Amino acid sequence: MIAAPPPALIDIGANLTHESFAHDLPEILRRAHHAGVAEMIVTGTSVAATRGALDLHRADPHRLFATAGLHPHHASELTGEVLAQLRELAADPGVVAIGECGLDYYRNFSPREAQIAAFRALLELAVDLRKPVFLHQRDAHGDFMAILKEFRPALVDGVAHCFTGQPNELEDCLGLDLAIGITGWICDERRGRHLLPLMKSIPAARLMVETDAPYLLPRTLTPKPRTRRNEPAYLVEVARTVAQSRGEPLEQLAASSTAAARSFFRLP
Ligand SMILES: [Zn+2]
Repeated sequence: MIAAPPPALIDIGANLTHESFAHDLPEILRRAHHAGVAEMIVTGTSVAATRGALDLHRADPHRLFATAGLHPHHASELTGEVLAQLRELAADPGVVAIGECGLDYYRNFSPREAQIAAFRALLELAVDLRKPVFLHQRDAHGDFMAILKEFRPALVDGVAHCFTGQPNELEDCLGLDLAIGITGWICDERRGRHLLPLMKSIPAARLMVETDAPYLLPRTLTPKPRTRRNEPAYLVEVARTVAQSRGEPLEQLAASSTAAARSFFRLP
C-alpha cells in the first residue's frame, strides 16, 4: 500500500540564513520537502539576512522566497544608507514581503524610539513598493496597533507573524484585517495553551503557519529531536495542532493555510 502524500504546506517564516543552518541547508530543505513543506518564506531580519534570503531564492526560485526587513532588535542600526540598501533589495521580485518589522518591548535590544522610527520607515517602504508586511510584535501591542491603524489603509496587506497574544489582541489584529501567523508556540503547554481556543475565531483565509526556525521547536514532537534546533520539516506539527484546535482534519487546514499564504505573498 502506498501512503498518501503529505499535504503541501508553506512555512511563512523560516530564518534559513541563520548560522545554525550553514553546514546542512540542502539536507534541511530535503527533509522539508519530504515532510510536505513545499515552499518557504525566508525571513529577512537585517540587510545581511535579506541579502542571504535573496541568494537562497535565486538558488531555488520556485521553493524559496525572501522578505526584506530589519528586526526591531536591530532598529538602532537603521541609517539612511541601510534604508537605501533595504529599498534596493526589497524591489527585487523575489522579495515577497517587507519585514520583519515591528516592535519588541520584551527585550528592548534597541531603544523604543529607534524601534518606532524603523517600524515607520519600513511601513512606508511597504506602501511605496505595494508589498505586504511581515510584522513582529512583543509586549508592545498598544503602540503597535496605533501605528498600524495609521498605515493600514495604504498597506496592501500585513501578517501578525508568530501571534502569541490574548483574545483582545487577536480581535484588534483581525479588526485591522491582518492575517495571523501561528508558530510552534501553540505546541508549548507552558505558555501557548491560551492560543488553542482562539484558533476557531481566525477566518481560514487569514490563517497561516510558520516555524520561525531555528527558534521555537514544537515541544510536542515525538520522538524528541536530539537538538533544540527547529526546522521547516516540523511545520507539520504546528499545522496538526492548529487543525486539532479548530476541529478540522489536517488536510483541510493545510489546504486553507497554503491558499492563504499563496494569495498573501502573491506566490506564482
Ligand atoms: Zn519575529
